[in-house]
Amino acid sequence: MSEKREAMLYEPLEGKAVRCNLCGHRCRIAEGKTGFCFVRKNIGGKLVTLNYDELVAVHVDPIEKKPLFHFLPGTTSLSVAAAGCNFRCAFCQNWQISQAPREHRLLPHEQAPPEALVAAAERNRCASISYTYTEPTIFFELAYDTGRLAAEKGIRNCFVSNGYMTPEAVRTIAPYLDAINVDLKAFREETYRSIMKAHLQPVLTCLKELAASDIWLEVTTLVVPGTNDSEAELSDIARFIAEDLGPDVPWHVSRFHGDYEMADTPSTPMATLHRAMTIGSEAGLRYVYCGNVPGDDGESTRCPGCKAMLIHRTGYTIRSNRLAGGTCPDCGAGIAGVWD
Ligand code: SF4
Repeated sequence: MSEKREAMLYEPLEGKAVRCNLCGHRCRIAEGKTGFCFVRKNIGGKLVTLNYDELVAVHVDPIEKKPLFHFLPGTTSLSVAAAGCNFRCAFCQNWQISQAPREHRLLPHEQAPPEALVAAAERNRCASISYTYTEPTIFFELAYDTGRLAAEKGIRNCFVSNGYMTPEAVRTIAPYLDAINVDLKAFREETYRSIMKAHLQPVLTCLKELAASDIWLEVTTLVVPGTNDSEAELSDIARFIAEDLGPDVPWHVSRFHGDYEMADTPSTPMATLHRAMTIGSEAGLRYVYCGNVPGDDGESTRCPGCKAMLIHRTGYTIRSNRLAGGTCPDCGAGIAGVWD
């Protein structure tokens, strides 16, 4: 990995140590050491990023794949990732790239500075650039520099994140960030501590900061059997979203498939996902979706007022979109989102 750009959001400490204030770990990093994410290093009292413009994934995706269902539906998003993560989820579905720096695995990568990414988004007629697949917080500087350039060209910016950004990080990226999908992976501190090697409270704080901003917010919970699928925990998540973030925040309950260190855990039963959707609706959420289940009715957007089908989806494909400027054509109810 190269050392190219000074990190943002850090402060000097005594003896050439530094404190990184980018994510909830707030690592104290001694000279010559890296933070918990292994991609930010203290060199002589200066914190630098090790993965600034070294991308391990660049694809054109439908925005529905993020998932973002209430943000420019039917458009494509240039989707990019650098290696690394500030979590260590035992069920990570992208562990080959997210955990590579920690496991000292070098991945083939593509040199892609901000100008090249914005040009690629324009060339591919993408409405947005998504910082995704791994955690965008650990390539925050690239996202920030690219986001500023993209915004000048009228291209939107989206994060798919674990929500571990500090409030300072949210406020720093906010002028250039249009939408975010945050994984709220559980509602138990013990689960965050033991499975993600992180903590719950910084995620809740980040979510509240995002909900209070102008950034369009959607939340995803991967429902993992035996980990976060109890009635009580799903209700806690749904109530938190409805009461603390707002009933218009879409909640995606996603199907788990065994992966990484939990490869032997069975897939989420459909009955559990449908129960989670009911729990979400009963908590007052207006938009609850099923994820990773192509063809299920829970992928589509219905009017929360008259229940009319508004956006009919199969997987990431939109079959029909009856939304007229964010309004239900049948009953006239407003549908929250960014539609143009
Ligand atoms: S981004 Fe998070 S994990 Fe990485 S060095 Fe900064 S505080 Fe630590």
